[in-house]
Amino acid sequence: MNRIHQNVDHWAKVQPGALALEDFDGRKLSYQGLQSAISDAASVLKSYGVTGGDRVLIISENCAATVAFLFAASRLDALAVPINARMSAGEVERVIAHATPRAIVLTTAASQDATKHAALRDAQSETGGFGTVACLALTDGTPEPVVDGTGQVAVILYTTGTTGDPKGVMLTHANLLFAGHASANLRGIQPGDLVYGGLPITHVFGLASMVVASSHAGAAMRLQSRFTPAALYDALQNGVTVLPAVPQMHALLMQYAREQGHQHLTDSKLRYVSSGAAPLDPVWKREAEAFYGLPLQNGYGMTECTAGLCATQNEIGDPDTSVGTALPGTEVKLAMGDGKTGEVLARGPHVMAGYYRNAEATQATFDADGWLLTGDVGRFDDLGRLHIVGRSKEIIIRSGFNVFPQEVEAALNDHAAVVQSAVVGRAITGNEEVLAFVQVTDMASTDEASLKAHVAAQLSAYKRPSHIVLTLQLPAAATGKLLKHKMIDTFAEQLA
Ligand code: ATP
Ligand code: MG
Repeated sequence: MNRIHQNVDHWAKVQPGALALEDFDGRKLSYQGLQSAISDAASVLKSYGVTGGDRVLIISENCAATVAFLFAASRLDALAVPINARMSAGEVERVIAHATPRAIVLTTAASQDATKHAALRDAQSETGGFGTVACLALTDGTPEPVVDGTGQVAVILYTTGTTGDPKGVMLTHANLLFAGHASANLRGIQPGDLVYGGLPITHVFGLASMVVASSHAGAAMRLQSRFTPAALYDALQNGVTVLPAVPQMHALLMQYAREQGHQHLTDSKLRYVSSGAAPLDPVWKREAEAFYGLPLQNGYGMTECTAGLCATQNEIGDPDTSVGTALPGTEVKLAMGDGKTGEVLARGPHVMAGYYRNAEATQATFDADGWLLTGDVGRFDDLGRLHIVGRSKEIIIRSGFNVFPQEVEAALNDHAAVVQSAVVGRAITGNEEVLAFVQVTDMASTDEASLKAHVAAQLSAYKRPSHIVLTLQLPAAATGKLLKHKMIDTFAEQLA
C-alpha cells in the first residue's frame, strides 16, 4: 500500500456496508459511501485544476468533507494542508502565502467560521457524496515533484504554535500509514469499533488517532465539528468505544458531568481512553479514571512524529505520571544531559520528512545520526518509562536554579478553584521571574494571595510565582492546548 486513501479502498471492498463515519449532523457513511464521497471530492479538485504535487488547502472543522477531501488529495498525489477554520483571516493569509495552494476547500456546512472565510474569497459551492463545501482555485502554486513510493508527502500539518509561530510539518504516506497502524494497534481498534471524533482533524492527534487509525482498522468515527463536553457525554452513551482526547477535554467533561450530577459514566461501551498532546495533570488523571471506570492512558506525541512517540499501558488507579514507553518499531533516547534528565530524541518511521520550505529549521531539528530533536526534556525511571519534565524552551532559570513550569502548574491545578494554568518565565534585570496565569472556575472563589499561599505550601521559594493572574479564559488552540507564548501579551494589563 502506497497511499493513505488505499485503506478506504481496501475496506470498501472487504466490508462495503460497514459504517465508516457518522457525520457532525448525524448522517452515516459506509465504507462504500466514503469511497464514493472521495471520488466526488477528487472530481471537484480536478475541476479546480489540481494535479499531482499541488497543495490543497482544507479550511475546516471536523466533518465528512474534511475526511473526503483529505483522501481525495491523496488519490490525486496532491498534498493536503488541513487548517482549522477558527484561524483568523490574517493567519489563513500567512498559510496561503507559505503553502501556495492550487485550490482551497472550505467546509462551510460544518463551520460558520469556514463560511465567513468563504464569503471573503467568493468561493463556489460544491455538492457531492461528501456533503456541501465551498471551493476556489488559485493560480500561483507550482507543483512539487511526485514520487511513486511512500516517501511522497501526503499532508502538510502546521504545529500548534505553543512556543512560537507554527511550522509546516511534511508528513509522508509512509509516516501516516505507520501512524495509523501504530495507533490502531495500541488501542486494539478493529472493525466494529466507534472512535470518538472530537479532536480537530487539523491537528496531528486527531488526524492520526481518528482518521488514519480508523481507516487502517476498518472501524468507524463519530465526528463532532466542534468539541463540547455535552456532545462528548452524549457520544459516550451512544456507542463510542475508543476515546482519544487532550487533557482539557477530560477536564471539561468532568466539570460538565459534576454539574449534571453524574459521578460515574453509565450505559457506555467505552473500553479505551487516552490523553495526549499536552501534559496530563495527575489530579485530572485520578478523577477521570474514577469517572470512566477505566485506566486513562497517557500518550506523548508531536506533529513532527505523526502524533505518537510513547504511550502508557497501565491498570486503573496506577499513580504513574510517565508517558510510558516508545511505540513498537520506534526509538526514543535522551541526549546528553545532567545524567538524569536530557533532551528527548526520536527516530523511526513516524518521523517527518522535514519542515516545508524551511530547510534551516529542518536541519536544526535533526542530529548527524538522523535523530529528531524534540525540544522536550525527559528522564527515564527504573522501569524504563519516559517522564516529560518540560520543554527546553520553557525552562525558567531563576537565580541559577531550573524551574520546570509543569511542576508549578501541577501545584496550582491541585487547588479546587483552578481549572488549568500556564506558567512562563519573564526576564527581569539579571534574573528570570516565574509568572502564572490561572483559569479559575469563577472569580469569587479565590484570589492571588490565597493561590500564592496554596503553592507556597508545596514549592521551594525559587519556584513560586511572583505574579498569579486569575482569569476565566486562557488563550488556547482549537485542541484546547494553551498557547504559552501569548500569555504575557494577553495579560499585559494585569501584570503592569
Ligand atoms: P510548536 O511546536 O508550534 O511550539 P507544539 O509543540 O505545542 O507547538 P504540537 O506538535 O501540537 O505543537 O505538540 C507537541 C508537544 O506537546 C510536544 O513537543 C510536548 O512538548 C507536548 N506534549 C505532547 N504530549 C505530551 C504529554 N503526554 N505530556 C507532556 N507533554 C506533551
Ligand atoms: Mg513543537
